[in-house]
Amino acid sequence: MKKRLHLTDFLKGVKAGNRVILSQAITLVESTLESDQNLASELVQSLLPETGNSIRIGITGVPGVGKSTFIEAFGKMLLDQGKKVAVLAIDPSSQLTKGSILGDKTRMETLSADKRAFIRPSPTGSTLGGVTGKTREAMLLCEAAGFDVILVETVGVGQSETAVKNMVDFFLLLMLAGAGDELQGIKKGIMEMADALVINKADGDNLSMAKKARVNYETALHLFPLADKNWSPKVLLASSTESEGLEEVWNLVQKYLDQMKGNGFWETNRAAQRLNWLDDQIQFLLGQAFLKDPIIQKMLEDRKPKVQKGELNPSKLAKSLIQLFFKK
Ligand code: GDP
Repeated sequence: MKKRLHLTDFLKGVKAGNRVILSQAITLVESTLESDQNLASELVQSLLPETGNSIRIGITGVPGVGKSTFIEAFGKMLLDQGKKVAVLAIDPSSQLTKGSILGDKTRMETLSADKRAFIRPSPTGSTLGGVTGKTREAMLLCEAAGFDVILVETVGVGQSETAVKNMVDFFLLLMLAGAGDELQGIKKGIMEMADALVINKADGDNLSMAKKARVNYETALHLFPLADKNWSPKVLLASSTESEGLEEVWNLVQKYLDQMKGNGFWETNRAAQRLNWLDDQIQFLLGQAFLKDPIIQKMLEDRKPKVQKGELNPSKLAKSLIQLFFKK
């Protein structure tokens, strides 16, 4: 049997940047066992002073846009600059699709093989709140382990964008030229969240179309009102397979951070994100406790058929179950 690590072992190992222990620490955070969860909370709490120093970048875009190819090339460029890079993923659908992102070991081969990089697939979980909480803690652990840049990948199709936006400093949307916004499943809301759009696959025959798309997106983005941080999203071209345009993306991230640290937005945003994390966790833990309660479970089982048939008002039932839960 594997030796069970104690808090001090985890603390020492993570702080020393030991990737095996970091991995085990993230597994601890992801565990559903109460004893593991208690230890994980203590670990993260003890490591808090060592966290917060990385550059956190969210990356989204529909499947096929080139996220993993981009992260591989972008990550490699950062490694070449002497940075340590961690890649995390949020994919609430991964239980259904068996891990559509980062699940496949053949993806990001160079990064996977490099000791200065750390790649972790999306945690599984039935709710976005659960998945998000675990990823946030994994991010802090990576920071305590000395990673300079954390890339958080998510699929550009659902609510997970908002979750990622709420845990990063810079949010990057990968797009394709000529695919049409509807085809790309990209909602206006997601474009509004982005700090930069990167039109990927700007190479070969695609290049001239990508240049045209850039002008179109720039025009479209100008119609959006400037957010309170006073930054209008920029549009860049990149080819992940040719490693073109990646330095421009990194320069833009740095320019953004300089500006946001200068105007105070960076700190305000991080503070707001910590509070948002608290809200998320309260909701998640309440929901979990509620649904685990045997009396509530039994009542739900009994009443669900009536709700399904339209004989019982779901709001009324929800209210009375909540009342019952808190009165007990
Ligand atoms: P993901 O689903 O968003 O992670 O997309 P992948 O990274 O798996 O890429 C999907 C396909 O697009 C793969 O066949 C890649 O080789 C290809 N691809 C990714 N980036 C580029 C690029 O910059 N140029 C070209 N020509 N192909 C690319």
